[in-house]
Amino acid sequence: MNVYDSEQIAARLAALGYQQTGILEIADLVIVNTCTIRAKAEQKAFSFLGRLAGLKMKKPGLIIGVGGCVAQQEGAKILRRVPQVDLVFGTQAIDRLPLLIQKIGEKRCRIVDVALTEKSSPSNALTDRRLDGSVSTFVTIMRGCDNFCTYCVVPHVRGRETSRHPDRIMEEIRSLVLSGVKEVTLLGQNVNSYGKKEGLCSFPELLARVNSIEGLLRIRFTTSHPKDFGSDLINAFKTNEKVCNHIHLPVQSGSDRILKRMNRKYTRELYLDKITKLKDTCPGIAITSDIIVGFPGETEADFNETMDLMKTVQFDGLFAFVYSDRPNAPAVQFKNKISEEEKRKRLQTLLKLQENFTRMKNQALVGSVQPILIEGISKKQSSGNFNCPDPIVQWTGRTSTNKIVNFYGNDHPQCSADIFPGKTVRTHIEKAYAHSLWGKPVEVKSATGGLKGEESYAA
Ligand code: SAM
Ligand code: SF4
Repeated sequence: MNVYDSEQIAARLAALGYQQTGILEIADLVIVNTCTIRAKAEQKAFSFLGRLAGLKMKKPGLIIGVGGCVAQQEGAKILRRVPQVDLVFGTQAIDRLPLLIQKIGEKRCRIVDVALTEKSSPSNALTDRRLDGSVSTFVTIMRGCDNFCTYCVVPHVRGRETSRHPDRIMEEIRSLVLSGVKEVTLLGQNVNSYGKKEGLCSFPELLARVNSIEGLLRIRFTTSHPKDFGSDLINAFKTNEKVCNHIHLPVQSGSDRILKRMNRKYTRELYLDKITKLKDTCPGIAITSDIIVGFPGETEADFNETMDLMKTVQFDGLFAFVYSDRPNAPAVQFKNKISEEEKRKRLQTLLKLQENFTRMKNQALVGSVQPILIEGISKKQSSGNFNCPDPIVQWTGRTSTNKIVNFYGNDHPQCSADIFPGKTVRTHIEKAYAHSLWGKPVEVKSATGGLKGEESYAA
């Protein structure tokens, strides 16, 4: 979501005449778009602001702005903590950013704008987005959250849930497709409740509309809340050929006692029941999840229930976090906090278990042929730390199940296919690693070298 917001910020700054630079030292304006979901994210933001403060000592004309969730949470306190900061703008102030920057430029004043209204206005997102060459991008379909999980800061810093009108979403995706995008990931804290409050269409209906966009090849979405995840969405995987065979369904804990204390509003049984239905309806679907370890009061028995649930589901991938107190989240007041040492120990145990499942799921694909949407040249290769047998350029893409596949490009004798970003290429999976796969495209090069976009198909 912050990546999406950063793009929206950059587009507004471009309208003011700013250009992006990768060299911090030559920037006239730096906007730090922050996250406060866990304590570590907030610490990182302040440590980067410390670095910028040092830079401003050498370059007094530099304008420093802080946006996002830390800005929303801390407001004017940031100006006191880091006196070099000129602007603090909250999660709903992105539209006002050009005016705020202009004012600072003219008056050299310091501004805090963290007004949070009951009803945010995500429809103000710029719908005419042109990306430079990206094959895959995010599209926010709703903002805020009404669920108030007891550990979570999101409702407090992003405000109440508001859905964008489907027409605006369609406009935005069509414009992205015109600029070469082939895959979109629809974003919301709980996409399953999309449109309900406003009486717009349902999320499965939105998926069907997006599925009809010509030139778009793949649709992903995140995040689904298990309490609202129903059979209509399960069926949407079958009825919409562009919806990828992957679901991220955060469980957070395998213990009913902890789920209740987290205010998640579902039980372990309900979650497992939905997983069974999902696996029955969509064979081969990849399932990933989020888990928090060391929630206040989590006993060894609760933790073992989470481990046990993992063994039952066998997730394809997992984001696991140690619990951290967040301002205004009710769990701050909960007793029986778990020691940092115990939390780390539980996290390691859980990650070790997950490693086996991730490897097993990756290994199961070896020998199969998968349609891969080619994203571009592998970043790992260009930074030189990928265990590639030789230094020839590698390309990267993803399976429908969201697994990363690396392979050789046109310039390698072993590559028989035309490789370019945005093409879907059938790829024979040869090797499985811990976090990626290695494959060989199996198509034969066309005499013309292939026409961009013509050979693509939904997969
Ligand atoms: N809305 C999504 C959901 O309900 O699953 C995602 C919420 S959050 C942006 C992403 C993940 O951060 C959560 O699923 C949760 O596992 C983790 N998280 C949130 N608050 C946390 C906290 N206080 N400590 C540790 N992890 C946290
Ligand atoms: Fe946070 Fe819960 Fe909302 Fe997700 S559903 S953003 S975890 S409050």
